[in-house]
This record gives sequence, C-alpha cells and structure tokens, in this order.
Amino acid sequence: MKIAIVGAGAMGSMFGGLLAECGNDVTLIDINDAHIGAIRSNGLRLVTDSSDRYVKALKVCRPEEAREQPELLVVFTKTLHTGAALQGVRHLIGPDVHVLSLQNGLGNVEKISEFAVAERILIGVTTWPADMVAPGHVHSHGKGVVRLMAADGNVRSIVSVVSETLSAAGLQCSSDATVWAAIWEKVAFNAALNSICAVSGCTVDQLGLTTEGSRLAEQVVVEVLSVAQRLGIEVDPAKCKANVAGAIAQHKGHKPSMLQDVQAGRRTEIEAINGAAVTTAERFNMKLPTTETLLSLVRLVEARAMA
Ligand code: NAD
Repeated sequence: MKIAIVGAGAMGSMFGGLLAECGNDVTLIDINDAHIGAIRSNGLRLVTDSSDRYVKALKVCRPEEAREQPELLVVFTKTLHTGAALQGVRHLIGPDVHVLSLQNGLGNVEKISEFAVAERILIGVTTWPADMVAPGHVHSHGKGVVRLMAADGNVRSIVSVVSETLSAAGLQCSSDATVWAAIWEKVAFNAALNSICAVSGCTVDQLGLTTEGSRLAEQVVVEVLSVAQRLGIEVDPAKCKANVAGAIAQHKGHKPSMLQDVQAGRRTEIEAINGAAVTTAERFNMKLPTTETLLSLVRLVEARAMA
C-alpha cells in the first residue's frame, strides 16, 4: 500500500518503519529538519523488542516537498498540530485518499473533515508506545494493539484493508465498531494521569504517594466518562478506574507526555483532552469541576513553561 505519514515523530516513525519493512511504499512527512536529515543519511534507527536496526526502504521529506498522492494518509502529529499538518499536505489529499488518525484526544475527525470527505476518514486508537530518542532514532518497547473504524460509523471495505496492512506489519490491528468508547476511555485515562502529573511534577507511580493523588485521578475518570455516557457511548468506568490504579501501581518513574512537554517548554495536548471533555460537557450543562480545575492549572503551567 502507498502510505504517507504526516507527523513522523515517535509514533509516526515507528509505524512507518514497521510498514516499510513489510513492503509498503512509505513516505514520512515532518517539519523536524534534524530528524529528516538523520533518516536521509542513515535510514530510520528503529529499536523494538525484536531488534535494533536501520530501516532504509522509506522516503522522508518536508510537507512542501511531498509530491505523490498516497492511498492512505496517516496523521500522527500531536493533536494540537493536526490542522496545520493537514494544511501543509492538503495538495496530497485528492478524492481517492483515505485519512487515518490514531492520535490521542478529541476533535481530530472534525479537523480532518475540513480537508477530506467524511466517507474517507478512518479513526482509531492505539496502545503501542514509542519514544523519540534522538533525531532519526525511535524506540518502542512492549506490545500494543490498534483498533479502527470508519469515522462515520459505516462498514467500509477500506477498514479491513488498512487493518490487514497494519497487522501484516505486526501492529495487531482489528476493525472495531466500539472505537469511540476506547477513545473516550483513553481521554479519561490521559485527562487524569497526564494533567495531574503535569501540574504536580509527579511521575505516574508518585500519584500513589497519597490517597488524594489516586482519588483525584479517579474523580477525573468518573467526570470525563459521564460526558461520554451522556453522548450515548457505552464506556466502562470500572475498567478505566482499574487501568488508572494499575498504572499508578506499576508505571515506576514514567513521565506522561504532558509532563515531558511542560518540562521541555512545549505546548501540551491539554485542550484536546481535559479541554475537549469540559467543552463537550458544557453542551449538556454538565460540570466537571476536577477536570476543569486541572485544565486551568495545566494552562497556567504551560504558559509559565513557554514564557
Ligand atoms: P511526537 O511529538 O513524537 O511526534 C509528532 C511529530 O509531528 C513531530 O515529529 C513533529 O515535528 C511533527 N509535526 C508537528 N507539526 C507538524 C506539521 N505541521 N507538519 C508535519 N509534521 C509536524 O508525538 P508522538 O509521541 O509520536 O505522538 C503522536 C500522537 O500519538 C499524539 O496524539 C499522542 O498523544 C499519540 N500517542 C502517542 C503514544 C506514544 O507512546 N508516544 C502512544 C499512543 C498515542
């Protein structure tokens, strides 16, 4: 399959590398010149549990250099950059191109809809992890899955085609009509752990140092999932609370991306996570007091970090 990935950081590079290794025609598109230069010089250094190797059978370029229309355009920027990234590659989004988002947060489908018709948008969620170690060098340790569906909820053959392509690359993908529940559960998980860690400077396991830390995280999960339930989405708050408790018990020393972002002086995905949950709640006159307080605090911490 001819695939372009816009936003080829940790996740985009890892997915692109694995897809290229099993014979797909992959182009990574990014604005990070150091990353592009390193891949052009040496290939993509991809470290997974199976091996440490250089993937050379892929193309890499800046948005304005990309020429060939793909069959599938995967968006893997941080959610706050989705609109700018699609604007940069809009010349690639012809009538036959499908666009897939596996990003975290809410609002990606709405942004993609400004560039592609609803029937050609795929939405999903992934539990694969990845980290950018240095330009041109990405790690992914552990296992994950991908679940995806057509964003308009219809059964479409492209979903199976993409799912089989990702699975052939080892990414364990399935078509799943309950993707929206998984997306909201991930939003609730991230709204809790990412925002509390970002404002407190705690790693995930340190939230267990006091009973209030864990209780605060649980309260956010309950609030965010109450909005999903109001939308008629069948989420599982008990499972999500257990996942949060499990992460606090097990993720020793883990800094969620939002904490990494504020420490590096970058904008975070807070608006697409806590922000989007609070905005959606307002449509139903619902209040999410803990989630909204954390939203305000992360905005403050973010502003200080970027000042
Ligand atoms: P990342 O910051 O490593 O990569 C994002 C890339 O987008 C960067 O290389 C950046 O240069 C590029 N970019 C920014 N603006 C761009 C533009 N206008 N045009 C082209 N490229 C642009 O982020 P990541 O960790 O790979 O995460 C990507 C998404 O996947 C996020 O929504 C994240 O929450 C989600 N996610 C991440 C993980 C993980 O373990 N890293 C796991 C699951 C989901």
